[in-house]
Amino acid sequence: MSMRWYVVHAYSQYENSVKKAMVERIARAGLQDKFGDILVPGAAGRLISILIMIGGVSLFFRLIQVVMRPNKVRYPCPSCGLTRHEPDAVHCKACGQLLCIVDDND
Ligand SMILES: [Zn+2]
Repeated sequence: MSMRWYVVHAYSQYENSVKKAMVERIARAGLQDKFGDILVPGAAGRLISILIMIGGVSLFFRLIQVVMRPNKVRYPCPSCGLTRHEPDAVHCKACGQLLCIVDDND
């Protein structure tokens, strides 16, 4: 008979006591042959989970930043130093300096 995987949510720091309670209950009911291993994530598993979560959140914030930020090109103004201008700008929005932004969409 094939066994199935189940995930049990437990309060943090109580995983081992939950495992112990499950093992005792299974033994009391005489169902040892119906259950396989009960695995509790270790420190490495927690670290990997945290790193994956941080990576996912940072990718999400990067996606939001790309969607929300208007399309601008990086071209430093020689007069005032403003670095981001609209792609079709002829004059600097801050000081009015004539700009010569190269259009690379040829
Ligand atoms: Zn300027």
